[in-house]
Amino acid sequence: MAELFDGIGRHIHYLRVAVTDRCNFRCRYCMPACGVEWLEHDDILRYEELVRIIGAFARLGVDKVRITGGEPLVRKGLLPFLQEVVGIPGIKEVGLTTNGSFLEEYAHLLKEAGVSRINVSLDTLDRERFIKLTGQDKLAQVLAGIKKAQKVGLTPIKINMVVMKGFNDHEIVDMAKLAMDHPYQIRFIEYMPFRPGENYLFTAAEMKQQLVAAGFTKLIPQLGGSCPAKIFNIPDSKGSIGFITPISQHFCSSCNRIRLTPDGYLKPCLLSNDEYPLRGSLRSGMSDKELLEKIKQVVWNKPKHHYLAKGEKSDRGMSRIGG
Ligand code: SAM
Repeated sequence: MAELFDGIGRHIHYLRVAVTDRCNFRCRYCMPACGVEWLEHDDILRYEELVRIIGAFARLGVDKVRITGGEPLVRKGLLPFLQEVVGIPGIKEVGLTTNGSFLEEYAHLLKEAGVSRINVSLDTLDRERFIKLTGQDKLAQVLAGIKKAQKVGLTPIKINMVVMKGFNDHEIVDMAKLAMDHPYQIRFIEYMPFRPGENYLFTAAEMKQQLVAAGFTKLIPQLGGSCPAKIFNIPDSKGSIGFITPISQHFCSSCNRIRLTPDGYLKPCLLSNDEYPLRGSLRSGMSDKELLEKIKQVVWNKPKHHYLAKGEKSDRGMSRIGG
């Protein structure tokens, strides 16, 4: 069985695929307030191209795929595509990251398509703040969607909260309480400054201080696992909480992933401007052998550290990379 390694020996077996740059939300940490120009339809990889690329990765030992965006559930024809991905030999797990606004309607269909688990973005439990953050009055739909996903067994559900200083940092305790009453894994994510001049960083250390002050003094670390989140059990709780610390404690040395952007670039690191175009070559007759060689070459050149560690800024917003 083939395995993919990069130039410093990291085993790469996790592919994140952004199927669209479009989204019905305008989260302020993700898109600039003035909005973004959408990619042209023809610049977005077709489903058959995505399946071909994912198949090539699977032949090289990638076994885990996460579908993201933009908002993946806004792309038409997603369910049959997901079924195809689930059926690719070697792929053991297909997950999906969503803003949750269509989840109530889609949860059972995702389950039927063979999706294993979902991550839902939820940054606030306050309706007004939700509207301010996302530009949409959809908190109730997202909460209903999460419930439905739990019911149909898309579990364990991971809920991602991007913590922004001065905006939602005072809601950490309420979010942690959600994990006490429900079997969710609530993950507090440090805000990543994609654009110059932004300063919303609230570190995991500050988050923990708040939790301890509110009585969460007995967090029990979960051992093992390869995800970047450090996960803790809370005594007498149904769920757990975690911290994702791309800024205060980056986890580049254990990174096992590579990304495919909606317009067909391979990005070996989320927070590096290195990217390698595939779409043009695919559409002008690239052979399977050439595709496999290209993937190996890109993986081999995965940056050692992300650029934030070097003080640079991103050329692309998150919606065009795939979070
Ligand atoms: N639409 C889907 C959603 O809302 O989850 C998937 C795409 S969204 C870009 C995926 C994730 O990117 C979000 O959960 C959020 O955690 C993360 N993200 C985007 N911008 C971020 C930023 N500036 N800092 C930290 N995380 C960010």
